[in-house]
Amino acid sequence: MIDVKTPNVVVLGAGYGGLVATTRLHKQLGVNEANITLVNKNDYHYETTWLHEASAGTLHHDKVRYGVKDVVDNRVNFIQGTVSEIKRDEKEVVLQSGETLSYDYLVVALGAIPETFGIEGLHEHAFMISNVNGARLLREHIDYQFAKYSNSDEKDESLLSFVVGGAGFTGIEFLGELTNRIPELCREFDVDYHKVRITCVEAAPMVLPGFDKELVDYAVAQLERKGVEFKIGTAIKQCTEEGIICQKGENDPEEIKAGTVVWAAGVRGNPVIEKSGFQEMRGRIKVEADLRAPGEDVIFVIGDSALVINPEIDRPYPPTAQIAMQQGEVCANNVAKLVKGETNLESFTPDLKGTVCSLGEDDAIGLVFGRKLFGTKASIMKKVVDNRALYMIGGPSLVLKKGKFKIF
Ligand code: FAD
Ligand code: NAD
Repeated sequence: MIDVKTPNVVVLGAGYGGLVATTRLHKQLGVNEANITLVNKNDYHYETTWLHEASAGTLHHDKVRYGVKDVVDNRVNFIQGTVSEIKRDEKEVVLQSGETLSYDYLVVALGAIPETFGIEGLHEHAFMISNVNGARLLREHIDYQFAKYSNSDEKDESLLSFVVGGAGFTGIEFLGELTNRIPELCREFDVDYHKVRITCVEAAPMVLPGFDKELVDYAVAQLERKGVEFKIGTAIKQCTEEGIICQKGENDPEEIKAGTVVWAAGVRGNPVIEKSGFQEMRGRIKVEADLRAPGEDVIFVIGDSALVINPEIDRPYPPTAQIAMQQGEVCANNVAKLVKGETNLESFTPDLKGTVCSLGEDDAIGLVFGRKLFGTKASIMKKVVDNRALYMIGGPSLVLKKGKFKIF
């Protein structure tokens, strides 16, 4: 009898893409068909799409995360570890601990990191919204700024000055939460609300570049009403201990003093991709239609690590959780097919249902199935979207445990 080895399927990353892929692979592959291993830095998954709330302190960080083992079957071998490199020739994954894992099929779903475009001082002085640790640090820092201001005799108003770099979806969603939190902080620390300054600096000529103008105008008006000053067509050039230097066109550079600078100006793929020698563009791999990396028979790449071109505009689809989860499903189907010896792999085509951008817990804008939504309706839709992501990964029990149900 021929001894056929059970193949090892290894999934890297327990974010949206990795968890959908893992749960679907477990459903499709029996115990004798494949060993499934999931590797993730933490023993928990976090809702990246809720991190702006944890960062501003409007939602506790424990609400935005749940244990990986709560949603993944015991048959999946879960390893808490940090991937440092993929050795494609050896078909091995190297972890920071020095441990190596061999794979027959690999799913790379390691997400993204903030893109700093080499701007001086950002890594040292700016806060970024990209994981639970960063969110916790930013929330603590914001509280501390208020406490420090209250406790000082010589009032340094830069402690109450906040700069958000980038008016993309992350920057706008964070501003929505921050502006809801500020009045609460002012009351808690006996600070005059009018002393607080919030500036959003955006390099492009409009807020939320490319999004529907009527919705953008609504968002800007709402945030301005809550105290945000927008500097549009103005690029951050440097971040310092005292704040930022920015520049509008050919004008002279301007300094904005700020005790808190939040950099929310885009993402690039996980550095493991570059380190592992894949052909990449800003850390993202332009995948084939079946989600495999070019020239690779057994390596699939999904989520923010992957790049898929929208043929209608010949530009990449924006990296979103919506796409990551859809890719997780197609990728699981394709890996299962290969394991079963089938060769008719599925092609991935995003099924975009729309975009909803929150402006705080009670307000939002959205373009869903072609319909524009504002205010409460959009905000309810945002909660539906957030709960749906929970449902797709952990079913109704996870929705009941972690879901958002507060409707106004
Ligand atoms: P992630 O969900 O980020 O998961 C990556 C996983 O890999 C994490 O668990 C991480 O810990 C792990 N990991 C990373 N490096 C390593 C390593 N070296 N070793 C081991 N594990 C590692 N998209 C939407 O569609 N709708 C939204 O409303 C929305 N809101 C957003 C709000 C914010 C504030 C932000 C920042 C993003 C938002 N996005 C939204 C974008 C969305 O969050 C991402 O596109 C999505 O998270 C990508 O999923 P992923 O599976 O590729 O990566
Ligand atoms: P983004 O790339 O969408 O926006 C970044 C913004 O920063 C851009 O408007 C850009 O012009 C600006 N910028 C770049 N360099 C700058 C500089 N030097 N100074 C000032 N501004 C500068 O990035 P993001 O907002 O971090 O979003 C990342 C991804 O996550 C996107 O794909 C987005 O669609 C997705 N996302 C979606 C939602 C949602 O659907 N509600 C929420 C957050 C993020």
